[in-house]
Amino acid sequence: MSNEPSIFSRIIAREIPADVVFESDSIIAITDIAPKAPVHVLVIPKTESYSNVTELAAGDPALLAEMVGVAQRIATEKSNGEFRLVFNTGASAGQSVFHVHAHVLSGALTEGSLAD
Ligand code: AMP
Repeated sequence: MSNEPSIFSRIIAREIPADVVFESDSIIAITDIAPKAPVHVLVIPKTESYSNVTELAAGDPALLAEMVGVAQRIATEKSNGEFRLVFNTGASAGQSVFHVHAHVLSGALTEGSLAD
């Protein structure tokens, strides 16, 4: 495992620009750079302690619940309040950034919209 900060930590530190749609003390939400749906936002805890949702659920379930609340808020603000929440967990499942994050997808979703 690399000790380099993740790309999301670099965004949180404002070393890399991003379209920030929500921020609190514990969470940042940004527009995905390669959107797979009309609304595609990443909800990212600021802590680097958890690489995936399984670790987060075990270590800080309240933070996971907070992420779900942020997802709902984004879907309500940017779409019709309905959304798909995806946590890719493991490289073979499509995870490429090992700093836990949720994909919020909303607006005219089609089956397979997560496929590359
Ligand atoms: P995952 O494949 O589940 O780990 O998701 C990583 C997501 O991060 C992908 O959907 C990428 O498009 C997105 N991503 C990577 N770099 C950036 C960036 N600089 N700004 C916004 N989204 C990014």
